[in-house]
Amino acid sequence: MTGDDLLLLARDGIFPVTRDGDGRPLPPPASGFPFPGTIQGEGKLNGIPSLFVRLAGCNLHCAWDGDGCDTAHAASRPTGAFSLPAREVARIAARNRDNTRHVVITGGEPLLQPGGVETFCRALRQYFPFHVTIESNATRYEERVASVADLMSLSPKLSSSAPASDVAHHAARLRPGVIQQYISRARERGKDFQLKFVYATESDPGEIRELLASLHGWTNEDVLLMPLGATPGMLQRNARAAAGHAIREGWRYCDRLHVSLFGNAEGT
Ligand code: SF4
Repeated sequence: MTGDDLLLLARDGIFPVTRDGDGRPLPPPASGFPFPGTIQGEGKLNGIPSLFVRLAGCNLHCAWDGDGCDTAHAASRPTGAFSLPAREVARIAARNRDNTRHVVITGGEPLLQPGGVETFCRALRQYFPFHVTIESNATRYEERVASVADLMSLSPKLSSSAPASDVAHHAARLRPGVIQQYISRARERGKDFQLKFVYATESDPGEIRELLASLHGWTNEDVLLMPLGATPGMLQRNARAAAGHAIREGWRYCDRLHVSLFGNAEGT
């Protein structure tokens, strides 16, 4: 089996699901609901019922002051990661579809597994014409990923995303040329994209403006400002400032609905 056929999944890899690939019942999911699916908590599709596939591994080391990567178990410390054939992951997702027509591929960083992501998306759509969102830090261009996404959710990392001493992180975190490629490719294919930024400090909006000035093909409706916060308390502390900046700049304010509903528990 090649890398194009396999996916390395985080320990909460396919969620929330209630059946295996053969339709046999599984223990109740972390959502607490006796059925598969959750809501997309962030971005243009906020509130849409969705199934999630979380991949393991990331090339960045985000560590905002007071709050690290909210999926550390999938990124810097992928404990419990496991491999499955991409076609089997598609079969499990399809078995858990019910009334859900959205699948979100997230991480970690999905761009590190372009072959598996492409194989998964093509296999998935043989069962049902799912809408697929691919969430990414947008640090490398992968045509195999860009060519299968209905919505590329690009989350470029600002300088507040790690201490200045993390030289490797800062050297890799921002690739305006790569971001532009995803925007242009989405426009060309008649598909969508979003630019989703974590708001952590007062200097963030200025950096976002600077980045946007170097890009074309976007509108303010494609730009989302999301407060830093993996817990309801932290989210609340940053929400008002993020909303204020979003209003002033004409960008979208981006909630983290899953944190309010589930406290960002794994597998929800
Ligand atoms: S890019 Fe995303 S998954 Fe990777 S370390 Fe940063 S926040 Fe975590």
